[in-house]
Amino acid sequence: TTLAGRSRALIRDVPDYPRAGVTFKDITPLLADGPAFSAVVTELAERTRALGGVDLVAGMEARGFILGAPVAAALGVGFVPVRKAGKLPGPTLAAAFRLEYGDATIEVRPDTIPDGARVLVLDDVLATGGTAAATADLVERAGGVVAGLAFLLELTFLAGRDRLAGRHLDVLLTEA
Ligand code: IMP
Repeated sequence: TTLAGRSRALIRDVPDYPRAGVTFKDITPLLADGPAFSAVVTELAERTRALGGVDLVAGMEARGFILGAPVAAALGVGFVPVRKAGKLPGPTLAAAFRLEYGDATIEVRPDTIPDGARVLVLDDVLATGGTAAATADLVERAGGVVAGLAFLLELTFLAGRDRLAGRHLDVLLTEA
């Protein structure tokens, strides 16, 4: 079977989580499967290499850390954690954005992104796109250039890519 087929079978649907009416895509079975985890990291690294000249991988807390750090290490580039508010020692730049319910703030240390650095933004799931759009803004405000964004899974029915118009997207799996 293909990487997509094997990975898809290892992503669990959790109904009514974290709230009624939402089906959460749980990637922990995939992470726990050595060959599948390794294959996903290799594929994300290959696609990032194909973009050319990526200097840094920025991953969003928390599952963007799990996938982004091994991708960065595979490419021999640095990793920049994009964290929930209050977790990073300063100085930080912050971006506030709307979630489905309520608001969130994420932060990055701008001194970890050299001016003009080409940054690949990486997360597990693209849902409404709010997190990814806010992260791309933060990278740019810090002086970086967003080379592209990569996701394991895109929930296409939430149209998150509309908020990332004009940006390069790599997605391994889609769910309609
Ligand atoms: P967005 O900002 O609505 O695109 O939500 C994306 C963020 O929420 C990412 O950081 C994901 O890790 C997380 N997320 C949203 N939905 C899911 C899901 O079904 N499974 C796992 N993570 C999700």
